Amino acid sequence: MNKTHRLCLVLGDQLSFDLASLKGLDQQRDTVLLVEVMEEASHVPHHPQKIALIFSAMRHFAEALQQRGIRVQYVTLDDPQNSGSVPGELRRWQSLLQADELHLTECGDWRLEQSLKDSGLAIEWHADGRFLCSRLEFASWAEGKKQLRMEFFYREMRRKSGLLLNGDGSPVGGAWNFDVENRKALPKGVRAPSPLRFPADAITRNVLALVAKNFSAHYGALDTFDYPVTHAEAQALWDYFLDWGLAAFGDYQDAMASDEPFLFHARISAALNIGLLDLRQLCSDVEAAYWAHRIPLNAAEGFIRQLIGWREYVRGVYWLKMPDYASGNLFGNSRPLPEFYWTGETKMNCMGQAIGQSLKHAYAHHIQRLMVTGNFALLAGIAPNQICEWYLAIYMDAFDWVELPNTLGMVMHADGGYLGSKPYCASGQYIKRMSDYCRNCAYKVSESTTDDACPFNALYWHFLMRHRDLLRSNQRMGIVYKNLDRMTEPKQQALWDRGQKLLAKLDAGQSF
Ligand code: FAD
Ligand code: SF4
Repeated sequence: MNKTHRLCLVLGDQLSFDLASLKGLDQQRDTVLLVEVMEEASHVPHHPQKIALIFSAMRHFAEALQQRGIRVQYVTLDDPQNSGSVPGELRRWQSLLQADELHLTECGDWRLEQSLKDSGLAIEWHADGRFLCSRLEFASWAEGKKQLRMEFFYREMRRKSGLLLNGDGSPVGGAWNFDVENRKALPKGVRAPSPLRFPADAITRNVLALVAKNFSAHYGALDTFDYPVTHAEAQALWDYFLDWGLAAFGDYQDAMASDEPFLFHARISAALNIGLLDLRQLCSDVEAAYWAHRIPLNAAEGFIRQLIGWREYVRGVYWLKMPDYASGNLFGNSRPLPEFYWTGETKMNCMGQAIGQSLKHAYAHHIQRLMVTGNFALLAGIAPNQICEWYLAIYMDAFDWVELPNTLGMVMHADGGYLGSKPYCASGQYIKRMSDYCRNCAYKVSESTTDDACPFNALYWHFLMRHRDLLRSNQRMGIVYKNLDRMTEPKQQALWDRGQKLLAKLDAGQSF
């Protein structure tokens, strides 16, 4: 039996009962420490709902641990003795409890992990087993490769997990990827299931009051909070998605629709990222639904690819490349983030919809993040650190390991193409094809150079013209540059002038 007193710090995104650092805990002797600290809640202006989710889920988790007979030390944000930082609290409690050993599972944020490593505290670190691919395993997969490709990594993860494989190891359905089937716009008359909401209990109500009092300057609504804060609630959300959302997830994965913030998306990312759901269980539930003929293969494969492909891949890239990764800026962008990202006050309907629901629910789905708010930031040349901070602040599920590579790499191409082979730039035509936003917009998506033309159109061509030297040689950009070269000089000039005008407006702090 363990004779020493262990102090196990559990961070706000580590609320899993089978967390590596909790294994082997001696219930008589050891203590689990959870701390609400100002530094973590305010190093960027996190959406108030995100702070509420984490604090409420932490308090519920602490209660659940105590019910299992585990000794828990919980520090609330308003505790007068609270030092305000994770290392500060760990040091204070080690001393107060005279703990012999400090145990901690790897952090999700390089900044925090580094500050703990620099703190001089003797911490015993545990690898985070909640992911399919460890940091080390990813590094050895990436070794010697100049450029990484998610698709090849994903196949490795399919082989490793055995998900959707035939007996001979080949992929079910004869292909690894059914993405071409997953690009449908939402047809008229198709309605998404109404989102499952979770009413606040006494713990959550207390947290909401604390957040309202301490974070009123942060952007975003608090009164619409309805997220799951316990393992049981997260499971209910997942079961609801399995029954009502997953079958159509593949088909309408990329679709966007006015006043439909969630469509057929699972809304589980925040619960998964903080440890209320288990990755392996989610994947096996999806596979089982496919074998039971409840969902088509494009939905099953598409969902599993997001989880064991993209999610694991971005984490691998993050830990392989930090801290240098965060300062990537291939295009040398320096334009400040427009104020309307924080208010939603813009005449561009697509942007207003995506930003508005982000402020209201701390949520937007992948295509809104990538092809609307992200696409705009790319085309407008926003400084990568500013747009990354916005994503980290505004989304309920945003933690550095997953937000940074998605934004800096996938959206801004600021890592020089390490994570993705080409920038996801698009004109308003893409948004028109995948949504109904353009029908109710002040701008005309069919126009490019007039005063009422869709801003995405001229900005798209302006982006391609101003970065010709960097992008022209990229094979995957060949067709778009051929299209640009086919345009007459006057047309190119008119697009450039309209782009210049729009960028000048941004520089003058004006919305459009
Ligand atoms: P669904 O659309 O139902 O997808 C299912 C699950 O797949 C998600 O819950 C998520 O766990 C996983 N997933 C899908 N795509 C990705 C991806 N690219 N990277 C990692 N996981 C993925 N996701 C986060 O969890 N946190 C972030 O901070 C985050 N920032 C993003 C920033 C940008 C610019 C972009 C383009 C994407 C970002 N994503 C992030 C990925 C994705 O947008 C969200 O995971 C998804 O919208 C969450 O909603 P959902 O649970 O309804 O997902
Ligand atoms: Fe967005 Fe342009 Fe469509 Fe308006 S017209 S909704 S700005 S893509």
